[in-house]
Parts: sequence; structure tokens; C-alpha cells
Amino acid sequence: MRAHLDHNATTALRSEARDALLEALDRLAGNPSSVHTSGRAARALLDDARERIAGALGVQEDDLLFTSGGTEANNLALAGALGASGGHAALVTTAVEHSSVLEPARRLASSGHPVRVVAVDGAGRPDIAEVVGAAAGTALVSVMAANNEIGSTCDLRALVAALDERYGVDRPRVHTDAVQTLGKLPLDLAAWGVDLASLSGHKIGAPVGVGVLVRRRRTPLQPLFLGGGQEAALRPGTENVAGIHAFAVAVELAVHEQPVFAARARKHVEKLWRGVQDSLPDARLLGPPLEDPRRLPNTLSILVAGIDGRTLVARLDLAGLEASAGSACASGSLEPAHVLLALGLTPSEARAGLRLSTGRATSDTEIAHAVEILSATLGKAS
Ligand code: PLP
Repeated sequence: MRAHLDHNATTALRSEARDALLEALDRLAGNPSSVHTSGRAARALLDDARERIAGALGVQEDDLLFTSGGTEANNLALAGALGASGGHAALVTTAVEHSSVLEPARRLASSGHPVRVVAVDGAGRPDIAEVVGAAAGTALVSVMAANNEIGSTCDLRALVAALDERYGVDRPRVHTDAVQTLGKLPLDLAAWGVDLASLSGHKIGAPVGVGVLVRRRRTPLQPLFLGGGQEAALRPGTENVAGIHAFAVAVELAVHEQPVFAARARKHVEKLWRGVQDSLPDARLLGPPLEDPRRLPNTLSILVAGIDGRTLVARLDLAGLEASAGSACASGSLEPAHVLLALGLTPSEARAGLRLSTGRATSDTEIAHAVEILSATLGKAS
């Protein structure tokens, strides 16, 4: 038996989404922009998926701009909102954002847009008052709802309310990368009051290659790609109808199952942490404390001093446990994870980070097995 505890990187296609995907692939023969019968059948499936996703997320159908995933949604939000604001519109973001926010932010800065990157506290949370202060005169504030590596979160509702109070009708637009939040914590974009939100299919059991940028209140955007009129001409290109259909199934289930998933994940993470502490009393928990109800329930990020995280991941893999050292996209590089550096860790401490993340299919037996492997491996490694 192997234990897979790297669900924040990606989680397996769920059977309901797979059935929906295969059914659509088998059935569809037309382009949804074509007016003939096959085209209209594809359009109907796309419209149905749009309606279901909008319903599950509590937004309008035409708020949804389907993309290839979270990375594209984040790029479209940042470059699109700043591009549409004209001139040298400014951006505020935080030091723990995913690279698909920080890299576009860097590119925007090098093309003359003032970019302010707000620091976080030792648990990875930005200070709302600091974000609000930094937002004076900016066009966009981009703060992630939940961090993929350490499970820290931001109270978006409080952030938007504070921006409203300070700047009134002139407040900057607010984007949130909610890729890791969907299905794990309550997600209520309307109550939060955000203008833009990014979501990704493969984090919730839909196929890789589909995501959405939710654009509320007609937030002005400039498209990244130019082409046809699909997705209000803001994301041209023939729609991935089968993928979007499967995504709709997964979104509905993720929203519906969220409370049950969170409760199970919390128990699993507590067990893992106790197991780690039993074999390595010096191990340090990164991110918010486990009892924080706002933290991502499925994510355990730890520091195992003196051990290289990537070596540990390789040893755990050999022993049958799949985990991650920092984020999947950074784990191929020798650079310490930027999120861990942002917590105030030294580069060598940041290289000692280990992340375990549970998923929908994680069982009690798998957690017990993972604890055994961790005890054996950490015991030897220390
Ligand atoms: N944002 C966060 C917080 C993520 O964890 C990820 C995936 O690792 C992304 C964005 C990128 O999503 P995708 O893989 O769909 O491009």
C-alpha cells in the first residue's frame, strides 16, 4: 500500500467527473459556436455547465470566464485588470502568493506598474490594515484566500470591508486566488465582496486543463489572448466543453461535500501531526496553529530541522509515502520555497520544509500507514 499525501499539488480525477468527461467526449461532435445541430448540442452542454457552476458558487452565469486552469486565471486577473486600468496602474499583493500571481506581478513591475508586495506574519497571514494602507491609489489588490503550502488564509470579507470603508467608491478591485479554498473551506465570493476569483479543476477532482476566472460586477479586463468572441472576447478560443462539463460536476460536489471533507481532513491532519511529534519532538509546525478554524484543514506543513526537504521526500517516496517539499512547481528547483522565506525562515530552514496534504479519497488506514512511514523515516533521518 502507498500513501498519497500530496493532494494540494493535484488530486485524482473523481469518478463522477470522469463519467461526465467521457460521456461528453463520446457525445460531442460540434463546436459550441456553430449554429448546426451538433454545435447547438455542445452549446447546450456548455450553458448547462455554466449555470451549474454559477449556481454552486452563488455568482451570475456571465461572471464566469473559463480558462485552462488556475495559472491562466491568475494571469488574466492581474494583467487583465491592470491592462484595462490604463497608464501605470498599481497593484498590491502579498509575499506568499502562488508563482502564477507573483510572476505576472514581476512582469507588470518591469513594465512600469508600481507593485507593492506586503509581508506576512510568522504564520503566513497578511495584516489587513497593512494591505489596506498599501492599496492607496492602486487599481488592484490580489490576496490569496488560502495558501497551498502552509494552509494560511486571509479573511477576504474583512479585507474588502476595510477597503470599502477606507476608499469608498474609489476602492481598488480585489482579486483572490481561491484555487486551494474550493471544497476545503466555505467559499462565498458574493459575501466576501471580491471582484475577481481564480479556481482550478484539478484541485477538486476535475481534469487538469480547466479552470475559471470569476469576474463579478463587470470588472474591466483586457484579454491576454486575441481571437474570437468566446467568453465575452476576454478569453477567446474554442471552449473545452467536455472538461468544463466535468468541472461543473466536480464544483457542485466540492461545494456540497466541503463541510464533511473539512471535518475528516482536520482529524487526519491532527493524527499526522501527533505522529510526527511522537518521532520528532523538535519538529515545528508551519502556518497557523491546527486549532485555527480558518486554516486549510487538509494541509500540514512542518520543518524538520537539519534535513533537506527534497531528500526527505525522496526517502519517504521509497518507503511508500508521497509528500512534497514546498510547492510542486518549486520542488524541481534548488531554491528554497518563497513562502517559507516569507515566514522569516532562513534559506537553510526553508529547505527543510515538508508538506503533507490530504484529499477526498484519503482513508484512516492510509493516514495510519503514513504515520508508520513517517515514524520510521524521521526517526532514522534525525
Ligand atoms: N494557485 C494556487 C494557490 C495553487 O495551489 C495552484 C496550483 O498549484 C495554482 C494557483 C495554479 O493552478 P493550475 O495548476 O490549475 O494552473
